[in-house]
Amino acid sequence: MDAARAMPAASGALAQGKNLDDLRRNNLGSALALIHARRSLSRADLTRAMGLNRSTIASIVADLEARDLVVVGEARDTKRIGRPSLEISTSDRHVVIAVNPELDATTLGIVAMGGRVLREVRFEHERPPTAREVVNVVTALVAGLQPELGQAHEIVGAGVAVPGLVSAADGSVRLAAHLEWVDEPITAMISDALGVPAWAANDASCGVVAEVLFGAGVGSGNVAYLNGGASGIGGGIVAESRLLQGRGGFGGEIGHTLVRSGGTICRCGAAGCFEAEVTRDALLEIAGVGVENPHELEALLAQGYADRDDVRALVDLQIVHLGIALRTIVNLMNPEVVVLGGFLGILGQLGGERLERMLRAAALPGPAGQVRLERSQLGRVNLLIGAAELAFRPLLSDPTVVPLGTRRARLTDRP
Ligand SMILES: [Zn+2]
Repeated sequence: MDAARAMPAASGALAQGKNLDDLRRNNLGSALALIHARRSLSRADLTRAMGLNRSTIASIVADLEARDLVVVGEARDTKRIGRPSLEISTSDRHVVIAVNPELDATTLGIVAMGGRVLREVRFEHERPPTAREVVNVVTALVAGLQPELGQAHEIVGAGVAVPGLVSAADGSVRLAAHLEWVDEPITAMISDALGVPAWAANDASCGVVAEVLFGAGVGSGNVAYLNGGASGIGGGIVAESRLLQGRGGFGGEIGHTLVRSGGTICRCGAAGCFEAEVTRDALLEIAGVGVENPHELEALLAQGYADRDDVRALVDLQIVHLGIALRTIVNLMNPEVVVLGGFLGILGQLGGERLERMLRAAALPGPAGQVRLERSQLGRVNLLIGAAELAFRPLLSDPTVVPLGTRRARLTDRP
């Protein structure tokens, strides 16, 4: 039993007033979370989903609109019989600066509610950036984007997707081995630099949150996401509708499960880890793709796979190791969906049905029969969307943190 529930029931006008405020806030938050997850829905659908009466819904929508959190317009479906319902969409007014530092580049996104990436900027690094360099890059990029952000958008916070272990307690990076970051207080540094609150999480944890909300995992509470990036393989797990974090926030490191006994020594010190055997660098090299053009990898690898024995041998070996990692995940967590992102999405595509067959043959029949393999639907922006989610969370749980009249102020600001 939690502390709040253990307290005796409060009584009196003050307590009731507080309860009404709480109820109102809860309703506003639930409505906004629904609109956010769907990006847009009719007022009739919102009324049905919330199970509240029409006038309460009308008042909730008017409140959210006055805070410029939603935009209300005519329904798209004009063919429906009867009075057309209003369409409620997320507003682009409130945005998050989402950041994904990697070995080869730092990617920054301006992300609005509804998982809408309004802008994506990639800043290349010649060598792995330090935490300070990433903060400096982010500061400079945000300053450069200021004319674009202008008065039309308000930055509510920053979210960082880190390829490494991030402490759930304070958002500091415990270890990002490939970036060579140890105990870096990245959220405090970004927050100081931008003057907004900041959050951080493991990159693949951001990825799984984005896929469950907006991508290949929508509608499922048991999803594993595997992200293949420049600095290795990250894993994010949503089990029974909750992000698996573990004691300190370090859970889900599928990249460091064993796929080959006595194999290559991993950056973590162990031998035969998934991310030591399956690497983007090996694929780039054999496909003849420069690290500065990773987006070319898919086409060139597919070409090489069709034409060249050496490419096929390497890709097939990586697919075997991917299959072993998948077996571990499927047996361990009985997921409904395993989403492959980054270069693992390319391997999954090349592996196709063969990978599926390998998985069915190797994993236990129960969970193997219940899982489907999907490629990330959100593509490379999914880490940014998930990172933004960290900073949108307080707003979604209590929309009243945004003052009323935000919308009116913007309209009168116009010249
Ligand atoms: Zn390892």
